[in-house]
Amino acid sequence: MSDTVKYLLGEESIPKAWYNIAADLPKPLPPVLHPGTKQPIGPDDLAPLFPMELILQEVSTEREIPIPEPVRDVYKQWRCTPLYRARRLEKALQTPARIYYKYEGVSPAGSHKPNTAVAQAFYNKQAGVKRLITETGAGQWGSSLAFAGSVFGLEVQVFMVRVSYDQKPYRRALMETYGARCIASPSNETHSGREILAKRADHPGSLGIAISEAVEVAAQRDDTKYALGSVLNHVLLHQTVIGQEAIAQLEMAGDYPDVIVGCTGGGSNFAGIAFPFIGAQLRGGKKVRIVAVEPAACPSLTRGRYAYDFGDTAHLTPLTKMHTLGSTFTPPGFHAGGLRYHGMAPLVSHLQELGLITSTAYHQTACFEAGVQFARAEGIVPAPEANHAVKGAIVEALKCKEEGVSRSILFNLCGHGHFDMQAYIDYFGGKLKDIDYDEKELAMALAGLPSVAEPA
Ligand SMILES: *Cc1c(COP(=O)(O)O)cnc(C)c1O
Repeated sequence: MSDTVKYLLGEESIPKAWYNIAADLPKPLPPVLHPGTKQPIGPDDLAPLFPMELILQEVSTEREIPIPEPVRDVYKQWRCTPLYRARRLEKALQTPARIYYKYEGVSPAGSHKPNTAVAQAFYNKQAGVKRLITETGAGQWGSSLAFAGSVFGLEVQVFMVRVSYDQKPYRRALMETYGARCIASPSNETHSGREILAKRADHPGSLGIAISEAVEVAAQRDDTKYALGSVLNHVLLHQTVIGQEAIAQLEMAGDYPDVIVGCTGGGSNFAGIAFPFIGAQLRGGKKVRIVAVEPAACPSLTRGRYAYDFGDTAHLTPLTKMHTLGSTFTPPGFHAGGLRYHGMAPLVSHLQELGLITSTAYHQTACFEAGVQFARAEGIVPAPEANHAVKGAIVEALKCKEEGVSRSILFNLCGHGHFDMQAYIDYFGGKLKDIDYDEKELAMALAGLPSVAEPA
């Protein structure tokens, strides 16, 4: 075997279609329910929030959904992203495993999120929308949508979780550089924000609250729509360019993964790398072990309940069946802001129920330790979220060493950590704590799950 470390594809190899796993599922997803009637919703129910093209993708069962040329044109700026063989990390771990990582940090915003931001901005522009409203936790999604909005000439307004707004001024500055307006959430600009602030003026905010604010504003105006950076089927769909490219790049390497690892917040970067491989498996291809890694402080897949729940705190969104910690659950503050969501994508949740994926949770100091080891071997500083995937991949590689077998491990390095160096400063200063969530709060949030008579 040669000692190639980098597998590159040109822009002509950018996939022509997104891969829709709904076409290959052995059992369909449970229906999405109306928050009031608790009956299955139709495309028209979502029309105040999303353009029809995206709603149709949300419910589509077509295997391939063509990527519009204007979207592929923007993708060309950074796609195809590189696939690396982590030879120096392998050596540092003294593992017989072959470790590969797909690097999404080369996008303008520094993560996988522009893959869907660009697509969503395109379809909104096409539908005549003038303004996009969204929420952001750590700021990755907000800056990705701000970038996409600037490309297609859309106004972008971002509700940023208060604690991140204060902690991450550089992400905010990036959004403003792209021309977006950034508001700390909870804010005084919405009914749901004012209600929270009335109870607690210094509320640190949460993704659930920021979603309520964004949805409330978007529903008020015809020329304004909402955009979500994870969780929904169409978002996961747009991310499948990652896995499709990885299949072609591993073919160049003469390899195929035995194990795939991704970190999960809402599930989109994990789906992006894993779904094309799961689809190949469902159509008779090789069985791959697929591992979702989540933070121990916000463990929806490993500790949550598989149940119908709201996507937001104010209960404005439809009900979806997913692994959830309860919509009122506020995770403790930790550094992977992009992983602090109470629910998991319905598609990822469904795959876990079907036994097609497995999940595990790690505390943040173990993840930073893995991230630092990775940076010292491979040179790239991962985002705090991505450190969870690095940790998961290292655990798998050490298992290979223990068992004396050489497996092929692929993980998604979903973003760089250049805007997150304060987290690294805290880690080196011994200030990162492994915070456990409050069991009582979790029990309360789960007790508050909506009661739903499950459709047959
Ligand atoms: C947003 C984000 C995540 C979490 O979202 P997913 O939808 O689970 O991918 C993970 N990593 C990075 C770098 C992010 O920006």
